[in-house]
Amino acid sequence: MKLFDTHAHLNQIDDIDGVLRRAREAEVDKILIAGLDLDSNREVIKIYNSIKNFNLYLALGIHPYRPQKDTFKEVYALIEEHKDTIVAIGETGLDYTYKEAREEGPGRDLQKEAFKSQLALAQKFDKPVIVHSREAWNDCFEMVKESHLSKVLFHWYTGPLDILESILSKGYYISVSPAIEYSKQAQEAALRAPNDRILLETDSPVRYRPPSGSYICEPKDVIKTLEKLSELKKIDKEELAKITYISSCSFFNITD
Ligand SMILES: [Zn+2]
Repeated sequence: MKLFDTHAHLNQIDDIDGVLRRAREAEVDKILIAGLDLDSNREVIKIYNSIKNFNLYLALGIHPYRPQKDTFKEVYALIEEHKDTIVAIGETGLDYTYKEAREEGPGRDLQKEAFKSQLALAQKFDKPVIVHSREAWNDCFEMVKESHLSKVLFHWYTGPLDILESILSKGYYISVSPAIEYSKQAQEAALRAPNDRILLETDSPVRYRPPSGSYICEPKDVIKTLEKLSELKKIDKEELAKITYISSCSFFNITD
């Protein structure tokens, strides 16, 4: 079995060697590492360049959590500089759960400005986009639609099912995290999406809170995502691993 963790923030993890060793033991063959802001983008580039014994893939972007306008240009320059290395732009998107973006106003405008610029860069460099969205489902979908991109991943999708229908009808993808073990929204989305439109991820090092006890995840835990998804979708684990692995490689234009 070969697994692909399509979303991890390895720069937030101290023991990267240990994490990668455990990932390999858990049959994780590939990990996509994503930046969030200027500093973390620099850190993931450093990790990407220094680790030679694991199949890491790089994504650079600006996360909607308090985007710093004075760093936008530098991040866009990093993206341009690494345009032949990155497999996606992200993590980017809109998140209206943050205090400064709960209502229309400068907080939301800044998120939209950064998101729009990154969608334009994805178009310019012909890259897939990894979208983070919370309580901004419709705005995110509309902005993505207007960008005319064909490869869009709504990471850890927990939004309404009607917007999911629109996402799927445009040919976009969703990813599923270990929250699927207990989150009703994540389960409903996964049940609605076809198996070949779902990618697996961990969003490491997020803390998950299943009834069996909370834990901070690492890429090896992508197996938890796979196991719960295979149970829900009533499909053999190995078969589902294969489908999601192939979809991930094709989504990110990775030849394996
Ligand atoms: Zn993330």
